[in-house]
Amino acid sequence: MIIYHEKLKKEAECMAEAVAQVYGMTVDIEEADLGKFYREVELKDGKGREIRDFGFLEEKGPRKVDGKAIDEFRILLLKDDIYVPGASKCLEDWAFGYSYPDFETAVLSVARLRGKDSVPADKVEVPMKRYLDRVAHLAVHEIGHGHIDRKHMKMAVWCKTDPKGKVIQEMKLGEHCTDPHCAMYEVIDLVPKPHEFMLLGKRKKFDAYLDPLLDAGRYPEWLCKQCDAAAMKGDDRKPQKQYLKISERVKKILSEPEKVIDLTE
Ligand SMILES: [Zn+2]
Ligand SMILES: [Zn+2]
Repeated sequence: MIIYHEKLKKEAECMAEAVAQVYGMTVDIEEADLGKFYREVELKDGKGREIRDFGFLEEKGPRKVDGKAIDEFRILLLKDDIYVPGASKCLEDWAFGYSYPDFETAVLSVARLRGKDSVPADKVEVPMKRYLDRVAHLAVHEIGHGHIDRKHMKMAVWCKTDPKGKVIQEMKLGEHCTDPHCAMYEVIDLVPKPHEFMLLGKRKKFDAYLDPLLDAGRYPEWLCKQCDAAAMKGDDRKPQKQYLKISERVKKILSEPEKVIDLTE
């Protein structure tokens, strides 16, 4: 696996360590210039930015091992705030990250992980240990979407309500584990907010927040037993067969935004 990062070496190292521990993968880290791949997106109530990570990956090309192109999971670790291409409608639809398991790519931003709350910040405003744990947690989570069989998971939906409790807005977040101590439990924000909840299968959940999950004790192994048993482990570097077809696959994925498996808000 490879992590391409924007001058976020410490964060990338922390992620690599966690990913190696959980999935037994070898993880390489490389600084990359991703600035030109950000695009502005028009949202209902303002402008956001998305990253067309695929442009970067196309330009970069696959890595080679013994002269042969390989297929491997890639993380793009970004410093700026991001929206999900094709899926974000309004400013409230911001994302910590998202993954395209079919495309073996996850995109993560640290912008909303630095503060006391999920407001984009340039500087780390919480203890460094907490910040790095948030970053590593989301990496293990996003990779899990491509490496853990989903049979035992349930669909998570973010729901916003009016003061009377009526749902006025919702967003599908993909299939997630039901164990609140597992890294594959979904989180919708860092700290609890009023007038929202997560629907997990048919159950309303009010504990889908990252900081309380870290405080309550994530499993030392990160994953619950079920997720761990369903996880693919070991190096994921496979010889690549159809690299040139990536742009076609990407066009298809972007034209069907509901195919984005995970939209961790
Ligand atoms: Zn689990
Ligand atoms: Zn998720």
